[in-house]
Amino acid sequence: MRILLTNDDGISAPGLAGLYQAVADLGEVTVVAPATPQSATGRAITLDAPVVCERVAAGAFEGVAVAGSPADAVKIAIHHLMDDPPDLVLAGINAGANVGINVFYSGTVAAAAEGAMFDVASVAFSLAGGGPMDFVRAAGLCRWVLDSLLARGLGPGELINVNIPTMTPSGPKGVKVVPQGTSAISETYYRQDAPDGRIIFRLADYYEHGPQDGQTDVSALEDGFITVTPLHSDLTDRAGAARLRQTPWGVPPR
Ligand code: MN
Repeated sequence: MRILLTNDDGISAPGLAGLYQAVADLGEVTVVAPATPQSATGRAITLDAPVVCERVAAGAFEGVAVAGSPADAVKIAIHHLMDDPPDLVLAGINAGANVGINVFYSGTVAAAAEGAMFDVASVAFSLAGGGPMDFVRAAGLCRWVLDSLLARGLGPGELINVNIPTMTPSGPKGVKVVPQGTSAISETYYRQDAPDGRIIFRLADYYEHGPQDGQTDVSALEDGFITVTPLHSDLTDRAGAARLRQTPWGVPPR
């Protein structure tokens, strides 16, 4: 099996090294990842600047550091750096959960989504904070989940978001397949008024997900379960489209 391994925390991140160690025996693993941390860059791509790629040795593996976004790394890897397209794209392990509306900002999920857009089965892995960031133990859990996904079979372009709950001595309570939560986040910006009239804002590193509508990835992860959420890139609101089709649009003006 050919695997493309990437992340959004950068090629030197311990979560990437942990995941590499946990999946290295599955086949030929190619590591192509952002050169620097790219968290919360979502699906950004680099349009107006050259993207410099450099072969690097990062401990257990050699890989290519891409001076761009996670999506840049996946595009360049599949278009140019791999002789054949991968059978599987793995992204992570991210330092911090990617659940609820954070899925939209996540570079980790975006990297996997990019793989899915190439029709490659893709899985994003994240480890919730609030406990020890033990990426070796988390990677063992990711591999355990991946083995079940592979045993069931992953179709071309299938996109799966996996989150490991906050590490506790007793470990996760189980696995829940849950929808993505969509409630708003309550967040805080620090404000500073500079003497020259400029206003400086900085997003605080704490936030809370709003109340969940039924069980979601947010609530199941908080309850201590590994969450598995299949995603797709089609954002269409089908009920909304059905309603809009009833609109008497008429003939466009010339
Ligand atoms: Mn990240």
